[in-house]
Amino acid sequence: MEKFIQVKNVRKVYRMGDERVVALDNVSLDINKGEFVCFLGTSGSGKSTFLNMVAGLEKPTKGEIWIGKVPIHKLDEKRVTLFRQKNIGFIFQAYHLIPSMTALENVSLPLALRGIPKSKREPMAKKALELVGLKGYDARRPSQMSGGQQQRVGIARALVGKPKILFADEPTGNLDSHTTKEVMDLISSQVKMNGQTLILVTHDRSIAEYADKIVTISDGNIISVEDRTHNEEIIEKE
Ligand code: ADP
Ligand code: MG
Repeated sequence: MEKFIQVKNVRKVYRMGDERVVALDNVSLDINKGEFVCFLGTSGSGKSTFLNMVAGLEKPTKGEIWIGKVPIHKLDEKRVTLFRQKNIGFIFQAYHLIPSMTALENVSLPLALRGIPKSKREPMAKKALELVGLKGYDARRPSQMSGGQQQRVGIARALVGKPKILFADEPTGNLDSHTTKEVMDLISSQVKMNGQTLILVTHDRSIAEYADKIVTISDGNIISVEDRTHNEEIIEKE
């Protein structure tokens, strides 16, 4: 399998006045193309920090992050934004839809940011909404939809530009168990069908069961990596 994302000795320290918070201590990991990797850890373990770092939303204090041949840790704001627009989709716990926009407009937004004209992006967004089971919901605003429906819009928005990589931060954290299963079935089937790489973080063990690889993180360190495609523990640290 092709090594796709390389995280090398990444450390992230936040400074708040005199206080220092080590959010990530020293994290290294390789992720293959097309792999579904789940980061499992309790609140405060560094999951979101890790995701934000790999997505280029924050810079590591130390270490390197490579996506293909691109050094994410080195890119300036402008380049990293362009890289994200082209290659990355993000699914959030609280959906992060724009309240004043319809479902169709929300899903079209990443395409608009990439400069795709309205005549092209509308049919693409419509198709993405159909794909997530929301045919006929084009004109709904977020306040007119259930949590599960809003997250489907969020998934359609993340998928519409066919990004190579999808990030999901606690995507089912606001959903009941039935809707959680529906949303996870949808996310995992879509990424497999499109050959996309998915990095999902959660504190919920039942969600990790969908993944090819489960990475357990605690206090800013990876403590185990379980490769579920071979069903064996490949790293075990003290
Ligand atoms: P998780 O997503 O696993 O709940 P986070 O990555 O959000 O954990 O946080 C890891 C640690 O870093 C926590 O102790 C958190 O309080 C701290 N942290 C996260 N973001 C910031 C920030 N912007 N400033 C200061 N501390 C932060
Ligand atoms: Mg978090």
